[in-house]
Amino acid sequence: MSVSAEIIAVGSELLTPFRQDTNSLFLTEQLNRLGVEVIFKTIVGDDRAHIEEATRLALDRADVLLISGGLGPTEDDLTREAVAAALGRELKRDPGLVGELYARFAARRMKMPENNLRQADLVAGAKALPNLRGSAAGQWIEGTLDGREKIVLLLPGPPVELQPMFLEQCAERLCQKLPQVFIATRVLKVAMVPESQLDSRVAPIYSKQLRVQTTILAAAGECQLHLRARAVSLEEAQQLVDDLAEQLEDELGELIFSREGETLEQIVGYYLQMRQATLAVAESCTGGMIGERITSVSGSSRYFLGGAIVYSNELKIKLMGVPAKLIKAHGAVSGPVAAALAQGVREKSKARLGLAVTGIAGPTGGTEEKPVGLVFHALADGKKTEVVERKFPGDREMIRRLACQQALDMVRRKLL
Ligand code: AMP
Ligand code: MG
Repeated sequence: MSVSAEIIAVGSELLTPFRQDTNSLFLTEQLNRLGVEVIFKTIVGDDRAHIEEATRLALDRADVLLISGGLGPTEDDLTREAVAAALGRELKRDPGLVGELYARFAARRMKMPENNLRQADLVAGAKALPNLRGSAAGQWIEGTLDGREKIVLLLPGPPVELQPMFLEQCAERLCQKLPQVFIATRVLKVAMVPESQLDSRVAPIYSKQLRVQTTILAAAGECQLHLRARAVSLEEAQQLVDDLAEQLEDELGELIFSREGETLEQIVGYYLQMRQATLAVAESCTGGMIGERITSVSGSSRYFLGGAIVYSNELKIKLMGVPAKLIKAHGAVSGPVAAALAQGVREKSKARLGLAVTGIAGPTGGTEEKPVGLVFHALADGKKTEVVERKFPGDREMIRRLACQQALDMVRRKLL
């Protein structure tokens, strides 16, 4: 039987656009490693009744409940009180924790405000989880509810405190309490294939493998196939995802650019290095985004020489040596100019490959002949120059991201 978990992130700031709940992402990853499935996540403000309600609801549904935040010393830190109420237990001031709090303040030559003593309150029956990086201790609570074993963990909000507390004091202990189930995952990534088209090719394959859960996640110019299997041993779970991954790889061939979750820019870097090739870029409508992505990979200096943002016609001519009459004849957004940019940056930089992008990102500047979303990508290797014309959908941001993706994928395919 599988164990389910639920996560509650407490904090009014998490309900604003300014702060995101990242603790639940970390905890979900950790729980999945232990074979525990997260079935619900809740974000709740610093309101005692709301936290209590969320806790009750979660305890009804899940075996393991993790609550982060609201363990501080201030008036709005109400997790302890709310959880005690939801469990029908008392709060008890723990003398050991009181001592530690006094010592903590004394070590800093500070007098402890009375309020801080609340941080020494434990839910009856809870075991304190020491916090080496802050003043809020965590709590490990066990009990039965309607005949089912429940584990409730209270963890501090700051990720720098929560993460080590979970890893050092909770993961192993939780693992011992759980029936052994293992989860294996694989991520395959595909560039520049629409989600619907991808799904129609892979659905007949993955829908036959009922023991592997398959999800397609789509982003600009990229689809990710997430595979997940559960089994009684890690080897069996791994075998299940690997078998399915192999069938999907057979079907999709070189459309797949990443088999272990790597990014496109990592893969491009990997291939460039393998072929001992170098790359330089001339970017117009992407305004440096390609260079940004390539250089986000550590070690990219080994294969990336650099590039230029040649936004104006003048700079295309001056820096990249694009003939003025070529721009006059075809326009800056055209196949011949893209090709001249790629050749230009290749020659000027002495890179093995020259990559260029020119297009209309919009929302203004489109014409009937050259609509918003029209982008030309070119890759020059000294012998021939490949030009790809695309008409991308979406807003400015989306068009620019798709153009980057297309350009990087051309480099990848060239080096396959
Ligand atoms: P706390 O004192 O436990 O309520 O939380 C202190 C701080 O930790 C908050 O102001 C946030 O900056 C951070 N924090 C709390 N909850 C989360 C969360 N779920 N994800 C990321 N950061 C959080
Ligand atoms: Mg808070």
